[in-house]
Amino acid sequence: MPSRSRLATALSLSVCALLLSGCASTLQSSSNLLPAQRQTRAVDTQNVAIPAHAQKVPAVIAPATPFILKPQPDVDCAKEKCVALTFDDGPGRFTERLLDQLKKDRVRATFYLLGENAPLYPQTLRRMAAEGHQLGNHTFDHKSLTSLSQDQVSNEVESSAQKIKDITGLVPNTMRPPYGARNQAVDALINVPLVLWDVDTLDWQHHDPKKTVDIAMSEVSDGSIILMHDIHESSVQAVPQLIAQLKKKGFNLVTVNELFSDKEFKGSTSYARRT
Ligand SMILES: [Zn+2]
Repeated sequence: MPSRSRLATALSLSVCALLLSGCASTLQSSSNLLPAQRQTRAVDTQNVAIPAHAQKVPAVIAPATPFILKPQPDVDCAKEKCVALTFDDGPGRFTERLLDQLKKDRVRATFYLLGENAPLYPQTLRRMAAEGHQLGNHTFDHKSLTSLSQDQVSNEVESSAQKIKDITGLVPNTMRPPYGARNQAVDALINVPLVLWDVDTLDWQHHDPKKTVDIAMSEVSDGSIILMHDIHESSVQAVPQLIAQLKKKGFNLVTVNELFSDKEFKGSTSYARRT
């Protein structure tokens, strides 16, 4: 997505309900896609095997994603330094390259996906899940939730969850509100944890891989959640150096769910870092 101004990100706790049914009628049909998008979709859906785990879909909360990459030795984030890399607004045309890099470095990340983009890269989404990355919900088309009615908020979240479920069989069990825009009314409508961030690389703004790394390394601390965007090539280019420097500083790179695995991590509540 192009430049995204940051709206208020004041943190607060509250509760909401993510209903996963009744949203099919709101989904964008393939007939609404541009010709190029339809073509991408047709190509991407060839020869794609749906993983066995995709057959079992719980009503609300997704199971832990399987690990095809060898998981890092069990990391205890209570005793060791941990950090979560998160990538928003995809999937996009650079996401496969990012997945290649993460695979090479044996690192798993968390992706906050837009429902409108998911059908354009179904194979990428399935690969993401198969390689043990965490799939999160970033709404259908990136509206600021605080400016919407309750029905519109529910629809933004539900329709995106449905798209991700349709493609991967997994229901995202965390969500990130676009721009970090949330309030108690929004929180109350979402029954999964709202995951924000404490390290904003501003990668979408400056498009400078070195600056992305420098900001992240100057602000990161044990328990941090780092915000980046895999729809920008410059952000993906920053990843090898960022991973190298984080590892050099002794950080274990984990998914968001892993970061909070021994903590209370509940719906209708926002989290900007492990505390
Ligand atoms: Zn976003």
